[in-house]
Amino acid sequence: MARYTGSVCKLCRRENEKLFLKGERCFSAKCSFEKRAYAPGDHGRSGGSRGGERVSDYSRQLRAKQKVRRKYGVLERQFRRVFGIAVRQSGLTGLNLLQLLETRLDNVVYRLGYAENRAQARQMVTHGHFEVNGIPSDIPSMILKPGDQISVRKSSASKALFSDLADIADKRVCPLWLDRNTKALSGRVLRLPERSEIDGNINEQLIVEFYSR
Ligand code: SF4
Repeated sequence: MARYTGSVCKLCRRENEKLFLKGERCFSAKCSFEKRAYAPGDHGRSGGSRGGERVSDYSRQLRAKQKVRRKYGVLERQFRRVFGIAVRQSGLTGLNLLQLLETRLDNVVYRLGYAENRAQARQMVTHGHFEVNGIPSDIPSMILKPGDQISVRKSSASKALFSDLADIADKRVCPLWLDRNTKALSGRVLRLPERSEIDGNINEQLIVEFYSR
């Protein structure tokens, strides 16, 4: 399946929730969801075309899965693969899934504040600007472990794109499960994120049910 290249704001409206896919704009009055909080194609009908309809279990599970997949910018095949890893791990499958998504290299770059959104983080990684434990890595889906260190490569740090990155990152809150060194444009995974440190609007149990049908 090809990567979605349409308007990401439509995805927020489709999921009836702000997915924060753009960065600063998401927190401003320019956010499309603030102006048109109805699904694409509903044309602002009261409650939308889905208003008042009985929602099936399947539909709820599907929407829960799609929302998370879109939030993290992961294709269906990749998402299913990550779910498979989560199933094989010990503990709660839903939490395992979220921890695996959070510790993807592109998400860690985003969480450290080195990218405005996950799509930009993914692009920065694929363009080879980062290294993991001193080894260049251009694989956004790489799962990091506690103790792993990421940093902007020396050859990239001098580029214009990174000139004010430290100042931009300093304005962003860094999660407690990560350690950030903006002067060195680096960061370290201290531990796996706890459930309370991951988006509370996610219902991972519905995702588990979706794939368990
Ligand atoms: Fe979603 Fe951000 Fe677009 Fe608002 S600006 S609709 S939060 S992607």
